[in-house]
Amino acid sequence: MRSDRETTAYNRLRMQVAPTTEQLLEIHGRIRACVACRLHVTRTQAVPGYGPVSARIMAVGEAPGEKEDQQGRPFVGAAGKLLTELVESIGLTRRDLYITNTVRCRPPGNRDPEPDEVTACSHFLDEQIALLRPDVILILGRHALLRLLPDSAGISRLHGERVVRHERTYVPLYHPAAALYNGSLRETLFADMARVRAYLDEAESLRAPRPQPSEPVNADQLSLFAL
Ligand code: SF4
Repeated sequence: MRSDRETTAYNRLRMQVAPTTEQLLEIHGRIRACVACRLHVTRTQAVPGYGPVSARIMAVGEAPGEKEDQQGRPFVGAAGKLLTELVESIGLTRRDLYITNTVRCRPPGNRDPEPDEVTACSHFLDEQIALLRPDVILILGRHALLRLLPDSAGISRLHGERVVRHERTYVPLYHPAAALYNGSLRETLFADMARVRAYLDEAESLRAPRPQPSEPVNADQLSLFAL
C-alpha cells in the first residue's frame, strides 16, 4: 500500500507525461525488426502487442501460437475470445486492454520459450509497461509469472491475488487456454477477474485523471484499436 506522500508523487509523475501512440508504435516497429534471438528465424512475423496506449489493463501471456504468428496479433483464437469475455464480465471492453507476451515470436511447434529467449525479449516488455503504466498487469499463466515475479509462489497459490512491486500492481491468473476445456478453472478465472474489478476501482480512487494522448490518430495507428 502506498503512503500519501508516495501516492502524491506517483500521481504527479503520471500527469507529467502522457504516453503517445507514436511511442508505442515505435516499440512495435523495433519488435517487428528484432533478430536478437533464434526465434526470429522460424517466425512468420513478430507479434508486438495489441491495444490502445491508454489501456488500464495490460495482459501478459507466454508466447504467440500458430494463428498469432500468421496474423501478427496476440490472443486471436479461442483463448483470446475467453480473455475478452473475462474483461467484459467486469464491465470493460477490449479497448481497456493491451495484450502482449513474454516473447514476441512463436517458438517452433509451440514449445516453451527458452530462458535465453525470454531474457533477449525482456526489455521490450519493460518498455511497454513503463510507457503504458497500466493500473493492473494480468499475468497469464506460469511462464509469464516466472518472468514478471520470479521469486513468487506458484500460480495455483497466487491466482487472483494482488501483488504490488515497485509501484506496479500485478494479478496472476490461470492462462485462459488452460480453462477452455476445464469448467472449474473457467469458474475460478471469472471469480479472480471479479477481484480485478475491485483492484481497478481502488486504483481509480488513488490516482489523478489518466492523461490521454492529445495528438490525432492516423489510419495506421487505428489498427491498434480495431478489434
Ligand atoms: S522473441 Fe523477442 S528477442 Fe527474440 S527475435 Fe522475437 S522479438 Fe526479438
